[in-house]
Amino acid sequence: MDLGIKGKSAIVCAASKGLGKGCAEALAREGVDVIICARGAEALNATARELGSTGVKVTPVVCDVTTEAGRKALLAACPDPDILINNAGGPPPGDFKTFGLDDWRKAVEGNMITPIALVHATVYGMMERGFGRIVNITSQSVKAPIASLELSNGARLGLTGAVAVLARKAVRSNVTINGILPGPFDTDRLRTNNASAARARNVAVSVIDAERKAAVPAGRFGTPAEFGAAVAFLCSQHAGFITGQNLLIDGGGFPGSL
Ligand code: NAP
Repeated sequence: MDLGIKGKSAIVCAASKGLGKGCAEALAREGVDVIICARGAEALNATARELGSTGVKVTPVVCDVTTEAGRKALLAACPDPDILINNAGGPPPGDFKTFGLDDWRKAVEGNMITPIALVHATVYGMMERGFGRIVNITSQSVKAPIASLELSNGARLGLTGAVAVLARKAVRSNVTINGILPGPFDTDRLRTNNASAARARNVAVSVIDAERKAAVPAGRFGTPAEFGAAVAFLCSQHAGFITGQNLLIDGGGFPGSL
């Protein structure tokens, strides 16, 4: 299927690795110029070189997207994107009892305020131009809270609620805003989490991997390429009637009918 977005531009946040990279790859394959960011220059530049082989224009911006200066640098590289993929590292695990207010402020800043700031900076231009696609990468924790990730549960649900009305206003101008809620995807983050769970229980990582895969009806972790393909469809010309939705991609892990 031709997604009809060749020649458009996309800001893809936090995209040197993992899910963000999967999105940037899928969009670049559709002929979308991509502006990608991450804090580490080496991996970002390597990803930019890989993406360049698709023939689109790739602009790497080394920055921390959770800071005002970082977002300024990103928007300076592309003030009027047609597509915005919001993403950043997730908050650390822990327990409500031990989180201080600064932990909450950091989580809300990174996973709620940061995407809101980028939506605010880009959505009105998209509406004026009559096309825009915004996808917020959140987490399955929006649908069902994860016990060890209370900071994530809170901040991501806040973002989901914050854009729900805007998603229904912007769609009249052919601008959509949707969330994608990843379940377990095979990325560095998942591998790091599984390694620390293995250390905590004093078992091999393969034990944790096997347990987590067994908990997924698909029997495996998702891949960044699968994730990117779903995001690219939501960014396509064909998806202009889909807005304000929160799509869980978890290999069937959520046990509800809806
Ligand atoms: P990942 O494989 O660790 O990749 C994270 C990417 O984001 C890297 O490119 C990293 O590069 C960049 N990044 C992190 N913090 C950044 C910041 N402040 N500014 C700019 N770039 C930043 O992680 P992932 O698995 O793709 O996860 C992406 C998001 O999805 C996270 O919020 C995660 O919590 C969420 N999520 C993931 C899963 C999963 O199973 N993988 C499930 C649910 C939710 P630098 O470190 O160089 O900045």
